[in-house]
Amino acid sequence: MTFIIPAPEQASIAVDGTNDRFPVRRIFCVGRNYAAHAREMGKDPDREPPFFFTKPADAVVDTPATIPYPPETANLHYEIELVVGIGKQAFQVAPEATDELIAGYAVGLDMTRRDLQQSAKDMGRPWDWGKAFDQSAPCGPLYRVADTGLINTGRIWLSVNGEQRQVGDIADLIWPIPELLSLLSHSMRLMPGDLVMTGTPAGVGPVVTGDVITGGVAGLGDIEVVIGAAEGS
Ligand code: MN
Repeated sequence: MTFIIPAPEQASIAVDGTNDRFPVRRIFCVGRNYAAHAREMGKDPDREPPFFFTKPADAVVDTPATIPYPPETANLHYEIELVVGIGKQAFQVAPEATDELIAGYAVGLDMTRRDLQQSAKDMGRPWDWGKAFDQSAPCGPLYRVADTGLINTGRIWLSVNGEQRQVGDIADLIWPIPELLSLLSHSMRLMPGDLVMTGTPAGVGPVVTGDVITGGVAGLGDIEVVIGAAEGS
């Protein structure tokens, strides 16, 4: 086959302990999946079913990284998240049948233009401009599930310039990973290469140029992202 323009590069993330890569197909993100974060965003965590949004596959950036301060925002926020890498196709599977879909886990950041997200909420518009911008998903290496075992518990944390801002535990997910994967699979086919960002604990906040974000999940190493100079106007 010949394409009439250069074909896009396959987006991918690193795989821990090897030079191999994990190809990224789509990035699904869940909103408000820790009770304390739902409350800080003004919502009652007991009253809403989970909802999803997406980022483009090429929003991923290997860490450590310096990412530009993105355009059209004055309120760029960090959100530390456990990321699940999907290794098998699945359609409408029960929560009990989702373990075998998991290829591995990584630590990721769901970077958010909070002001654009908020105005989208206020106007009943899609979240894309707040969530799905360039380089909005810095991601550490995938740790293969064969090495980690299934992860349903463990500390998740984030610091800015060495000061802790977010801390939680994977065990506190309102919708645990089996439920998330089952719910997603009932709406569309999960496919190899899909990433699922599982939500962020309380303590989200702004970063500015020069800030150094560090974060991690127990057993998955730490990531570091520096906020660089503003890109564009
Ligand atoms: Mn998030």
